[in-house]
Amino acid sequence: MKFIIRAIIIISILFFTFGGIIHNFPTDEKLIAITFDACETKTPAYFDKALLDFIIKNQIPVTLFLSGKFIERNKEEIKKIGQLPFIEIENHSYSHSDFRLLSKDEILNDIIKNGNLITDLTGKTSVFFRFPYGYYDKKSLEIIEKSGYKIVHWSFESGDPDKSLTKERLVRNTLIKTKRGSILIFHINGRGWKTKEAFPEIMKILTERGYKPVLLKDVIR
Ligand SMILES: [Zn+2]
Repeated sequence: MKFIIRAIIIISILFFTFGGIIHNFPTDEKLIAITFDACETKTPAYFDKALLDFIIKNQIPVTLFLSGKFIERNKEEIKKIGQLPFIEIENHSYSHSDFRLLSKDEILNDIIKNGNLITDLTGKTSVFFRFPYGYYDKKSLEIIEKSGYKIVHWSFESGDPDKSLTKERLVRNTLIKTKRGSILIFHINGRGWKTKEAFPEIMKILTERGYKPVLLKDVIR
């Protein structure tokens, strides 16, 4: 028994020393965080206008993880939404490359470059980071944590980049898996094929069930 308690204490200390990847947040209330990725890989990517308009019109608190090429292509939009109090703009890397393959200097240059880009457009400092493709290793994790970012991934994948996923399944999957403290993930770069149709329905039902979206900065410290 003593051994188990000691092991739990050591694990807890390690956990707090290296926060690790955040997949959800502690809460007694029906709070959730809604996040969207927007990255550009092979072809030009732009905001999913219908989805963004819905979020703005309804003032839904959301966190957007943006990568460099996407930011450079959507500057005017980002300047505008960067001023909205219910939208957080966070760092999803400049190059959107596999961080397991980069050197320490390449990693630091990449995240600083993207962080500066965000600050230049919004006047705000990004404090959360999400790995491109969710790929990371011990080295890249430690470098980014030491640079001061908190790394936020997701509680479960919505699967919205899958072209074969129907709107109905996207809604159902999300509703079944959402719990208190869940961090939801969708795409707002036009690669969430059914997201603009599913998201209003998801929000309607989650609201009826008493869930309230919050910004990461208000629940992760
Ligand atoms: Zn991405």
